[in-house]
Amino acid sequence: MKLSMKLKKKWGQHLLVSPGILKKIVEFAEIKPGETIVEIGPGPGNLTREILKTPLKKLYLIEIDPEMVETLKQTLKDERVKIFLDDATTFDFSKLQETSLKLIGNLPYNVASLIIENTVNYKNIISLALYMVQKEVAERLLQNTSWLSVFVNTFYKVQYLMSIPPRFFLPPPKVDSALIKLEKKENPPILNLKVYKKFLLQIFSKKRKKLRHKLDEKILKKANISPDKRVEELRLEEFIYLYRFFEEEFLFQKR
Ligand code: SAH
Repeated sequence: MKLSMKLKKKWGQHLLVSPGILKKIVEFAEIKPGETIVEIGPGPGNLTREILKTPLKKLYLIEIDPEMVETLKQTLKDERVKIFLDDATTFDFSKLQETSLKLIGNLPYNVASLIIENTVNYKNIISLALYMVQKEVAERLLQNTSWLSVFVNTFYKVQYLMSIPPRFFLPPPKVDSALIKLEKKENPPILNLKVYKKFLLQIFSKKRKKLRHKLDEKILKKANISPDKRVEELRLEEFIYLYRFFEEEFLFQKR
């Protein structure tokens, strides 16, 4: 890699430079012949080149920095690659016209949560995601203590694969990192994503308050959940169960 390249802080450019870790990430993806992969934030392409050693059919790259895209175009000569100069927080994965995608990325940490949220938006076509994120973000996703972690855990099985110290990156970030795997559940619940997000944001606002202050008591009663409970006491199944009654009420009011 050219050390002369200027890395941009605003786009969270911390490159993974350890060949061992790059290899390990790709191994975790278990890429089989014919699969379609998307890499988010390829940067100068260190991880990309490792991914291209697998028997994949097609590799889409989504990168926001035009300079990085230019470098990639000049250095990656592989017919399986298609590069998008685009923003992964809002990228429309359905335009790829694929039915099953595996996503991989050493994510820009400042927008990692937004990229994870956008992954869930396309859960019907994204079967697996392997993301390098800030360790703290990874740990939060393992517990149902934020709206986003419940949102993700509803559809994906989240696994913590390994911790990675700052020295493996260039420049080293100020925080520890972790690799996580999101694996689509076999039978995820069918629900209206927009309304579900609204529901989760609503019950995760003012966390310490009891549920009665956040939801119509009628809904809690129907779901047989105590209005004195707090959001951190709910189990994943309870969120989904409670949501059913919320959705019913919400759609009813809209009529
Ligand atoms: N994968 C590379 C670089 C990771 S750094 C490596 O491991 O070496 C994060 C990368 O994400 C940078 O290249 C940065 O330009 C890119 N990026 C930042 N914000 C983005 C966004 N919203 N959409 C797509 N790419 C983004």
